[in-house]
Amino acid sequence: MNIVILSRNPHLYSTQRLVEAAVQRKHHVEIIDPLKCEIIIEKKNPAILYKGKHIENIDAIIPRIGASVTFYGTAVVRQFEMMKVFSTVESQALVRSRDKLRSLQVLSRAGLGMPKTVFSNYTKDVAEIINYVGGAPLVIKLLEGTQGLGVVLAETNNAAESVLEAFNGLQARVIVQEFIKESKGADIRAFVVDGNVVGAMKRQGKVGEFRSNLHRGGSATIIQLSDEEENAALKAAKALGLGICGVDMLQSARGPLILEVNSSPGLEGIELATKKDIAKSIIRYIERNV
Ligand code: ADP
Ligand code: MG
Repeated sequence: MNIVILSRNPHLYSTQRLVEAAVQRKHHVEIIDPLKCEIIIEKKNPAILYKGKHIENIDAIIPRIGASVTFYGTAVVRQFEMMKVFSTVESQALVRSRDKLRSLQVLSRAGLGMPKTVFSNYTKDVAEIINYVGGAPLVIKLLEGTQGLGVVLAETNNAAESVLEAFNGLQARVIVQEFIKESKGADIRAFVVDGNVVGAMKRQGKVGEFRSNLHRGGSATIIQLSDEEENAALKAAKALGLGICGVDMLQSARGPLILEVNSSPGLEGIELATKKDIAKSIIRYIERNV
């Protein structure tokens, strides 16, 4: 097969591992920077130019679209879809997963547990919002943040008010969330491929840090999910229409609570923690679908 990895950086661990796995399974693979693709739109003849040449005869793409290039990246994915190329992530699902609010709405409809969350556009109701999630400590998140940046723990109601006012002043859209303290600065990530959890890890934030993101200095260890956690991860992936994703959950007194679902989950943390060949699972997923 001819597989294209849409990635801005060929040196990233995830990109490298996908190339390795594809080559091992005897496929031809190419890394293409989505931002260097030109999208050609005309009557019934969708095409993509890359470095001046038409991209042709591609069987599948693996989008690795960073949050900062969601708009252009998903336009390129959509164009490949118009050219009848299989994508490991549908463009629609990719866009949806990038918006924390929209994702939580979909997950709540599917009956999944999540921290109590408020989104409001009315800046005068700050006190009411704070009360609704049970008062401080509480978590305030930028709607389109990633890697733990834009996630703030407000430890007092006063701090929460100031942070909300500051974000409002910047016209940044945020959600306010109940703080799940039982999770003790840890979360779990279930890596889902094609309706199966192919690996799971627990991430623990560094000392004094409530955010467990590896990018913020957290560390990962392999974990055996409970049936409830595994079911929640699979249900979340299905609800969001993601064949491949990383489902992030907090372990709480009332069971697993979904935080977010990542449609371009990194491979490094999960492969190192679990010693599993996740890249190969992704390539095999493509083989089953093309
Ligand atoms: P990002 O997209 O930036 O990773 P997350 O919503 O995943 O944002 O939050 C980052 C981290 O902060 C989570 O992995 C978790 O460790 C911690 N966290 C987020 N929300 C809560 C919460 N409501 N209660 C406790 N910890 C939280
Ligand atoms: Mg996260």
